[in-house]
Amino acid sequence: MSTAPPGPDVLHTGSGTGDTLAAEAVALDLAHAATDLRRRFDLPEDVVYLDGNSLGALPVGVAEAVTDAVRVQWGRDLVASWNTHGWWEAPTRVGDAIGRLVGAAPGQVVAGDSTTVRLHQALHAAAALRPGADVVVTDPGSFPTDLYVTRGVADQVGWDVVLADPDEVPRTLADLAATGRRVAVVSLSHVDYRTGRLWDLPGLTRAAHDAGALALWDLCHSAGAVPVDLDDHGVDLAVGCGYKYLNGGPGAPAYVYAAARHLPHVRNVVPGWHSHARPFAMAPDHEPADGAARLRIGTPPVLSLLALEAALRAFDGVPVEAVRARSLSLTRFLRRCVAALVPGAAFVSPDDDDRRGSQVGVRHPDAYGVVQALVARGVVGDFREPDVVRLGVAAPYLTHAEMLVAARELAAVLAAGEHLDERWSRRATVT
Ligand SMILES: *Cc1c(COP(=O)(O)O)cnc(C)c1O
Repeated sequence: MSTAPPGPDVLHTGSGTGDTLAAEAVALDLAHAATDLRRRFDLPEDVVYLDGNSLGALPVGVAEAVTDAVRVQWGRDLVASWNTHGWWEAPTRVGDAIGRLVGAAPGQVVAGDSTTVRLHQALHAAAALRPGADVVVTDPGSFPTDLYVTRGVADQVGWDVVLADPDEVPRTLADLAATGRRVAVVSLSHVDYRTGRLWDLPGLTRAAHDAGALALWDLCHSAGAVPVDLDDHGVDLAVGCGYKYLNGGPGAPAYVYAAARHLPHVRNVVPGWHSHARPFAMAPDHEPADGAARLRIGTPPVLSLLALEAALRAFDGVPVEAVRARSLSLTRFLRRCVAALVPGAAFVSPDDDDRRGSQVGVRHPDAYGVVQALVARGVVGDFREPDVVRLGVAAPYLTHAEMLVAARELAAVLAAGEHLDERWSRRATVT
């Protein structure tokens, strides 16, 4: 049991660092009381939930909305609900609601399907908007589905995939230009799912444009946690999922954004009947709808869309900038608590506020065991290959006091060697 740190005895003496941090937690929670939205969520009392970046917590009102959708809209009003309860417009209506959180004016976002499908669609749209260019630049550290889909689309449209760390993208673009290569799209995640690193969306979007390329951003780990401002920064295309910081529930619909200036020219690689200008004309030939509706596919998951719509109300009246300010305070404090109580903790998340998304990751050789032992103590984070204890901080429903609890439990797990328990030697399907 060589990995136990020497530090945590300060916890048990009830003096020094532990007391100071506890007093600070109280003061910080008071200072940030205005953005404490815990009462808008239905969370178990005895859990510190640090996995809202994998599955967001259940917002109050979602269960009622789903019950109404099932019992009244489906059960009683039946097929008329496509008209009377606005089922038909749900993908664009929910898209606009997501747009408010990512800085997209109405009419540019459509919700439905998964991030994987939406990324496939967005990359194909990029290919059609940039005929003659034959390179896609992406981050080798991207979430796996993003890499798989990017390679898949590249094979289909005849692109070369050039991998570059986001920091290196401007130089890579210059090198490609110097050799006469034309880049169709730079496709990156706004926040790295594993490290929590927040990339420079405005700067990298400009760099893509300077190279004649489009900028496509995956917002899975930023939407609902970090201001994105898609319109302000001139982003061309974006995708993201509904079940992380947007709290839409398991398998919640994803979304795709296409800037208004591109929409009239956007080609939908899956031109299903819901993307038709006159779907009920049942015409044999496809004629794309105007606006974001042209990125619809087929019949949307209505119950899930209505759940997501209700979930988004948890953000009502609260600007994303305020959520971000709370998130930064929480992650800064969590980091400080861990550093104080687990000496030598190896952080993977940046210390610098401008470079940190909304999570704190710590490397540990037995990270899987550490996460499981933490869960057993009521602190729910998750494990990411190869060695990351990932503590996601969904600011609306977390407090500074909980950050201290999480750090204390982490220290206690390591001090007692609980991460080495036999029970954690077999991994569950979902880690
Ligand atoms: C969560 C996540 C996904 C998930 O894609 P699904 O199609 O919903 O399975 C994709 N990309 C990134 C960057 C993610 O964080």
